[in-house]
Amino acid sequence: MYRVNEAGSSLIESCREIATNGVASAAIDVDTQAQFPESAIRSLADAGLLGLTLPAEVGGKGQTPSAFAAVVEELAQSCASTAMIYVMHIASTQAIAASSTFGNRDALLTDIAAGQHLTTLAFSERGSRSQFWAPVSRLEESADGGFVTSAQKSWVTSASYADSYVSSAQMPGAASPLESVLYLVDRKAEGVQIESGFDGLGLRGNDSSPVTLDNVNVPANRLLTELGAGAGMMLEVVLPWFSVGTAAMANGLCRAAVSATAGHLAASRFVHQDSALRDLPTLRARLAEMSLQTEQSRALLAHTAAAMEQPDEQTPLFVLQSRLAAIQAATDVTDLAMKACGGAAFSKQLGIERLFRDARAGWVMAPTADHLKEFVGRALTGLPLF
Ligand SMILES: Cc1cc2nc3c(=O)[nH]c(=O)nc-3n(C[C@H](O)[C@H](O)[C@H](O)COP(=O)(O)OP(=O)(O)OC[C@H]3O[C@@H](n4cnc5c(N)ncnc54)[C@H](O)[C@@H]3O)c2cc1C
Repeated sequence: MYRVNEAGSSLIESCREIATNGVASAAIDVDTQAQFPESAIRSLADAGLLGLTLPAEVGGKGQTPSAFAAVVEELAQSCASTAMIYVMHIASTQAIAASSTFGNRDALLTDIAAGQHLTTLAFSERGSRSQFWAPVSRLEESADGGFVTSAQKSWVTSASYADSYVSSAQMPGAASPLESVLYLVDRKAEGVQIESGFDGLGLRGNDSSPVTLDNVNVPANRLLTELGAGAGMMLEVVLPWFSVGTAAMANGLCRAAVSATAGHLAASRFVHQDSALRDLPTLRARLAEMSLQTEQSRALLAHTAAAMEQPDEQTPLFVLQSRLAAIQAATDVTDLAMKACGGAAFSKQLGIERLFRDARAGWVMAPTADHLKEFVGRALTGLPLF
């Protein structure tokens, strides 16, 4: 489905092996015990997949958004928590790679490509909620030429496991929250406090915890953007990679739901009629609808990811729409799977209830489905995004 080169195909194959062996067997514990999938992330690191999209000069695999989508889709079919941790890592890595202000950037990228550094996004704040483009926290200039900041970050995936957070704040003296800046915080920096564990409805292994920054020092060479250029990096770099990744995660959930439903309909029988669930036309129609929505969403994402390699003025719209289509498909398809498989889906044996819960997270992650519709509508009618 996703157009990739030979090296990309072989990386996707490695990921499929990791996903169907270790990741799939750990997924139930990851979900039931809200356990961070440490061994899965270690396997991805060992296979070089933490540097999938980084250039070869820093040891990366130099792969495209299409390869990223295919890798995430493989992971999500086995464990959506693992897929989301990986998406946050790659989106953050792209921000670091795009930075022209970060000191010793290539040394950090080399560590990432070598599988020695996991990173993540810390955009959402208690005060800005889902409107991540408008941070409430602010950098203040300090006497040593650097900065200091305090913030209440409301959701940080991999909070206790990532080595660093790509974080956002208003620039010193900002006249509007859009005058922002991105910076990198070490998880172990003084003043970083991880508030509590994560006990959510879905993506339970994500460790998406609130994190407080209390007078954390931000040396000038830890800025990822110029002062005032944060929103640009969020929207032009992080948003496209995040959108492709979360769309691919949603598509992986859809594929897993189609496969589990098809298997259950074929295998489950009514003894007195000597028939199977698949002999009921209503259930076959539900499965057909599930497959249609899944493949429509995958086709749009494949088109979008390919367009990102040679972008034109339509590409940002496709990016937004492919995420919107995928998160809608995932909620619809997993809902249909629950209905098609009945009580068997309601229990844990088929794994469908986990797909159903995991699929709901994509919808509320920012930009949410509401934001995406608003952005697309504004763009189509010639209004500015904000
Ligand atoms: C599992 C999970 C992992 C996450 N990981 C991270 C992470 O690693 N890093 C990070 O930065 N964030 C992360 N988030 C946070 C996420 O991106 C959102 O910021 C968060 O889910 C918003 O929740 P809220 O209750 O503050 O939403 P609210 O902002 O209170 O939204 C409530 C409702 O209002 C709607 N709404 C809000 N604004 C508008 C608008 N302008 N127009 C129309 N409708 C609107 C929303 O769509 C939503 O339906 C994560 C969230 C989840 C669920």
